[in-house]
Amino acid sequence: IINPSEDILKEYQVRQNIWGIEQKKLSKIKNIQSKTLNNEKIELLANIEVPGDIQSVKNNKASGIGLFRTEFLFMNRKNLPNEEEQFEIYKSVARSMKDKTVVIRTLDSGADKLTSADTTISANPALGLRAIRLCLSEPQLFNIQLRAILRASKFGKIKILIPMLSSLSELRQTKLLIERAKKSLANQKILYNNNIKIGGMIEVPAVAINAELFAQELDFLSIGTNDLIQYTLAIDRTDDRVSHLYNPLHPAILKLIDITIKAGKKYNKQVSICGEMAGDSKLTKLLLGMGLRHFSMHPSRILSVKKQVLNSNTKKLVPWSNKILKTKESETIETIIHKINQ
Ligand code: PEP
Ligand code: MG
Repeated sequence: IINPSEDILKEYQVRQNIWGIEQKKLSKIKNIQSKTLNNEKIELLANIEVPGDIQSVKNNKASGIGLFRTEFLFMNRKNLPNEEEQFEIYKSVARSMKDKTVVIRTLDSGADKLTSADTTISANPALGLRAIRLCLSEPQLFNIQLRAILRASKFGKIKILIPMLSSLSELRQTKLLIERAKKSLANQKILYNNNIKIGGMIEVPAVAINAELFAQELDFLSIGTNDLIQYTLAIDRTDDRVSHLYNPLHPAILKLIDITIKAGKKYNKQVSICGEMAGDSKLTKLLLGMGLRHFSMHPSRILSVKKQVLNSNTKKLVPWSNKILKTKESETIETIIHKINQ
C-alpha cells in the first residue's frame, strides 16, 4: 500500500499487535516435539529463499529445510552465479543445518520469478519455458547448478528437488544429467554423495494424476500446491482479478493431493506439501486426516501449524477427511473444516 492513510496505518498497527500477542503464546510450544495426540511424529520443515532465512528457520525450530527456492540467487543480477558461488552458498546452508535435511530445488525461473537466464518472455510465461524445461534446454546452465549441489552434498543432508515436471521423459533426462554431473566430478576426483535423493514436485495436474508412475522413479514427492492450483483451475496466480477463484479447497485439488499421498504410501515414498497450503493452520487437520506427515512452509507458519498438530489425533481425523473428499462443493468443505477445527 503506497502512502497509506492514518486509518490504514492504525488498522495495521492493531493487526501487528494481535500478531505479536499470538506469537508470544505460540513461542511456548517452540521446544515441544511435533507429535499428534496419538503419538505420530509430524515433520514441520521450512521453505527458504536465501541463506539469510536460516535464522528464522532456527528460531522456529523447523525440523529441516523442505524447500530451498534457489532461483532467488539468480534474480536481480546481470551475470548468473557460477559453480563456485553456488557451491559456497549450498554448502553454507547444508553446514548450518547440520544433520537436518536440506531440500534444494533446482532453478525454477521463467514465470513469476525471472532471471537473466530467461532471455525471452512468452505470452503465457506460466506455460512456457520455465523451471525444469528451461534447465533441460540449457544443459550447461543446469550442469553448473547440479555440480554445485552435488559438491555441497558432502557437507550435509542435501536432497535434490526437480520443479514443474510434466512428463516421465523430463524426469529421465534430468536423472541422466545428474548422473553425467556425478561422473564429471568423479573424473576430477571431487567428492559428492553418490546416494543423493532425488525428488520431484507435483505441480502439474498430469503428474498428480499419474503420481504412481512418478513415485516409482523418484525418492520423494513434494506437492507444490501454489502451482497445482494455478494449473488445475486455470487461474493465473499472479493476476489479482482472478484471485477470488484461486481455491485450495476445490474438490479437484483435494482429489489430486489425495492421489499423490496414496501413490507415495503405495511405493513407500515420502510425500510432502511445500506450497502455501502446508502453512495454513486451518488446513492442518484435513491434511493430517488425508495422511500427510511432512509439511514444508514459510518459517513464520511453523508454530501455528504445530499447535494444530499437538491437538490432533490422526486416527480420529481420517473419517472427517474421507467425508471431505466425497463432498462436491467447496462451501460445504469449508463448513466441515470449520467443525473439525472447533
Ligand atoms: C508451489 O508451486 O507450490 C511451490 C512451492 O513453488 P513456487 O511457489 O516457488 O512456485
Ligand atoms: Mg511452483
